[in-house]
Amino acid sequence: MAASSSSAATVKPSDHSSPAEETEEETEFCRGFKDADAFVKHGLGAVVAATKASAALPAAGDEFDLYRSFPAFQQFCASQGDRLLHCMSQIMQHHGCRSHMRDRNRLTGLEDRFDLVVDSNDAVLEKVGILLDEASGVSRTQQPVMPAGYQPPKIVVKSLEETFHLLHAKNIQRPQLKFKDKVDNSNTPFVSKIFIKPNAVKPLPSCECVKKPALLASYFLSVFHYHCGLFSHPYQYELDHVVMPESLKCKPEVQMYKPLAESTCQFINTLDDLVALNEKLAKVSEFAVDLEHHSYRSFLGITCLMQISTREEDFLIDTLELRSEMYILNETFTDPAIMKVFHGADSDIEWLQKDFGLYVVNMFDTHHAARCLNLGRNSLDHLLKVYCSVNSDKRYQLADWRIRPLPDEMLKYAQADTHYLLYVYDRVRADLYDTGNSQPTLIQQVWAKSRDLSLKKYVKPIFTEDSYMELYRKQKKSFNTQQLAAFRLLYAWRDKLGRENDESTGYVLPNHMMMKIAEELPKEPQGIIACCNPTPALVRQQINELHQLLKQARETPLLKTEVLAEKRKSMTPKRKPQPTSFGPHDISRSSESDFLDLSSFETPIKPGVLFSEEEDESVNPEEKSLHGLIASAKISLFADVMSAAPAHLTVAQQKAHSIMGSFENPFRMYLPSKDIHISKNAKYDPSSKIYEIRNRWKLQSVEQQQKEAQEKRQAKEQAKKAQEKRKKAKLSYQESLQNVHTVRQQVMEAKQAGQKRERAASDVGEESLKPNVKVSKTESETSVADQSTKPAQKKQNVQEPEVPEQDFKPFDYSQSNFKIFAGKSKESSQFDPNRQAHGPKQKKNQKGQKKSAVGGRSMSYVPAKSDRGIRPNWPKR
Ligand code: AMP
Ligand code: ZN
Ligand code: MN
Repeated sequence: MAASSSSAATVKPSDHSSPAEETEEETEFCRGFKDADAFVKHGLGAVVAATKASAALPAAGDEFDLYRSFPAFQQFCASQGDRLLHCMSQIMQHHGCRSHMRDRNRLTGLEDRFDLVVDSNDAVLEKVGILLDEASGVSRTQQPVMPAGYQPPKIVVKSLEETFHLLHAKNIQRPQLKFKDKVDNSNTPFVSKIFIKPNAVKPLPSCECVKKPALLASYFLSVFHYHCGLFSHPYQYELDHVVMPESLKCKPEVQMYKPLAESTCQFINTLDDLVALNEKLAKVSEFAVDLEHHSYRSFLGITCLMQISTREEDFLIDTLELRSEMYILNETFTDPAIMKVFHGADSDIEWLQKDFGLYVVNMFDTHHAARCLNLGRNSLDHLLKVYCSVNSDKRYQLADWRIRPLPDEMLKYAQADTHYLLYVYDRVRADLYDTGNSQPTLIQQVWAKSRDLSLKKYVKPIFTEDSYMELYRKQKKSFNTQQLAAFRLLYAWRDKLGRENDESTGYVLPNHMMMKIAEELPKEPQGIIACCNPTPALVRQQINELHQLLKQARETPLLKTEVLAEKRKSMTPKRKPQPTSFGPHDISRSSESDFLDLSSFETPIKPGVLFSEEEDESVNPEEKSLHGLIASAKISLFADVMSAAPAHLTVAQQKAHSIMGSFENPFRMYLPSKDIHISKNAKYDPSSKIYEIRNRWKLQSVEQQQKEAQEKRQAKEQAKKAQEKRKKAKLSYQESLQNVHTVRQQVMEAKQAGQKRERAASDVGEESLKPNVKVSKTESETSVADQSTKPAQKKQNVQEPEVPEQDFKPFDYSQSNFKIFAGKSKESSQFDPNRQAHGPKQKKNQKGQKKSAVGGRSMSYVPAKSDRGIRPNWPKR
């Protein structure tokens, strides 16, 4: 509550202007304040007072219930809570954030409210950042900073740093904040968003589990769902049985496009308009579709715009605004009687599924037509040049399409992307028909190819313990076991952060920086920073965490890994047909342009490795301590080459395995450290040198590994024991303290005897949140009555933190030890509603029975923010 009450406290600073000040009003910085300094001082004073006051509230869990039995206290809480929520709502509204803080129908409880506050804090702080930048002259324009797409590509290449800065495009609000459905970045397979299936020949799977998202979130259950078709393509059956329209079988009549300048282009951002568009589309026999996507500031990417063109009109759909309504287009998108024309639909098909639950039945991809026609280049701009004599400028392709309102240039660019497409569709069909000797065979081929494309399923990037190897193999570096361990840990860290913060992994930590850190294994946090230029925000914020990871990596036994380099060379992983960088913002692209298509490896999914905090316990400690070594043991090739490809290997690894098995260098066997590609015969021939080397080397490394693992295990066990001991001691201490109570408490205790003890016992983790939920509800329920019946005097007291007295003295920070910010200390139990909230108060630090103090953190700071996604460690109160 600290953060929220502080914002509440600063909301009405201008209420107390003295007459003297008013005379100078014109020169005043703001009504009641001479200058910014005065304002800030006042604000800080208010924040401190509010924080102090909130810290003085009785703790949820035990004292709180005691106090709640007093009607006066209840009333006070209800009215204050309501005022606070109202205040927060107003602030949020003022900043254009969602603000149904008090709307119980829309929110299920504290968690939702907490999310709202966190989101709003982010938005507000972002604004503050922008304004501060502006004040310091960094960006003087009111317009959004155009990301690299706005610059001619040359500049993008020339000045990466500048681009990077621009790409941060600070004044673009995160569209995710407005999404009605939360983005699901969990490490679980993608489940289609479709819930209504128009044009169905076969109905949607009707598995009960669809209704229980919590069940779906569990890996084991999601595997279980393969039985019911939950993970198959919803239109698989329809696409398997769709037949090519008769109209494609004869030579098409080419219909000229309208000049771009004369065409109307409607921007659609309301549901009504979207419905109307769908109706229009239902009446045409073909329309063209294109999408614009953003992938840098989001883990899975966001489709920002959809362009649709009929023969008569162009439409631009704001898919950020209509994201959860887009599904209604399935009616026309899956209608086999309507042809959908795309150019290069590979990604479009995935994005439609991922963001909107949209599918396409009956599609024609002009990109594949171009390929079939051997036009040399298959890009849309080439087709436009060839068929329309239009010189299109693709420089907005990489623009940040989250910008709103979209600048005219970008709107025009987007419109042009589909405007000519139906004409191109006519022309390529005509050419295909002619090239195919007046037979529709080639058209049929392209159409079939396009149908196969629409069968493509979106695959969520799944993190597995082997994922990092896919990326490692792509690099030109050869790591030793410590470096590789660091790489593995960094890879997991960045995946986790990306998911939790909904940022791309390229934003969290670009590949080339990750490589550099792993390679250099900096011993100091400063060394990590030095590897990253510019330092990514999350790296800076989590520098200590990263430091620990590297420390851990350096504890890995040092083994040679030349093997890996060989392994890497021997395989050429699949690449995405399209560029898969995170867009122009992703400066890592320059050094890693060939980013991997992890999804195409169909890596086996492992359960909740990332987010389950319990994982530590559930995994056999032996396995776990060995884990770092398992990775390096793989490097030791022997295991790989000797055994048949184990089933747990990814497809890519199995491939590598078979390639390696078939490849051998007769000379390599004489090189001690490269005895990986030994021939089978040599391996088992005791007279061969390699046999000897292998055994010696292997034994040694295994021994070493086992020894180190053992040591680690022991250390861990000891630490665990020590921890348990501490816990026990603490518990018994707390128990003894519980018997020391004031007389008043004892009386109350007698009343509620057993009940309280129970709660104290279960007063951990999420449990402690529950009483709070209860409070907020009660607050809203009783608020109306309270407002009218509240005694005037009490009201005045209550307002004190917000409306300071005339003779307000700025809070003197030099006198403060800042402990007041450290959150609530539990001993402050003697709550007195009549006492001045920010009056001086001497607190005795009474006991060690403290729950972890969380109050000090602003909810917008990363530690709390990163708790949002899965919330394994919610702030405990
Ligand atoms: P287009 O099909 O040309 O309209 O491109 C659609 C979206 O694909 C763009 O909004 C970008 O997000 C993405 N995209 C296209 N080309 C590239 C590229 N060369 N690198 C990264 N992303 C791209
Ligand atoms: Zn099922
Ligand atoms: Mn486009």
